[in-house]
Amino acid sequence: MTEEQKWQAVLKHDDRYDGLFFVGVKSTKIFCRPSCKSKRPLRKNVLFFENGKQAEQAGYRPCKRCRPDLLEYQPIKEIAEKIKFLFDTHFTQQKELAKKIGQVGLNYHRIVNIFKKYYGLTPKKYYDNLRLEEAKKKLTTTNDAIIDIAHGAGFQSLSVFYAFFRKNINSSPSKYRKEKKYGIYSND
Ligand SMILES: [Zn+2]
Repeated sequence: MTEEQKWQAVLKHDDRYDGLFFVGVKSTKIFCRPSCKSKRPLRKNVLFFENGKQAEQAGYRPCKRCRPDLLEYQPIKEIAEKIKFLFDTHFTQQKELAKKIGQVGLNYHRIVNIFKKYYGLTPKKYYDNLRLEEAKKKLTTTNDAIIDIAHGAGFQSLSVFYAFFRKNINSSPSKYRKEKKYGIYSND
């Protein structure tokens, strides 16, 4: 990125560049994310840093509004892998998952873009696939009650689980279990 491109990103408060560089304001000795909503500084007062550490070493303090110190420099690939890891690890616990994703320090729109770019599907779709596979596995390999399987796959209620199942594989959990586990086919 050229300095001019960075400056344009700053003028537009473009959050797609958050984490890729930081903006220092010479007159206040404060540094920000590109997307910071504070009043734009004069171009002549601006300099750019590659990461927060560099800014702090130069004597700049993190802005209290956009908290650039919470956003470590992370290459896009690392961000994508981290998000995938969070889904893989916490997909059965919605609250924990949301919390962990919030801690990544990027807005959700940007997370979706990065994830899609690397894995070719939205995080939502990926998350749904994980839950569906988990539910299918439990239905065919255990005798667990369907309500327990629903909860185990991160669904808050049985009706949500049924609707999700219907939408994704056009069947009900009980019918799917009968067919795949016991080979019983029926029309209901
Ligand atoms: Zn700021």
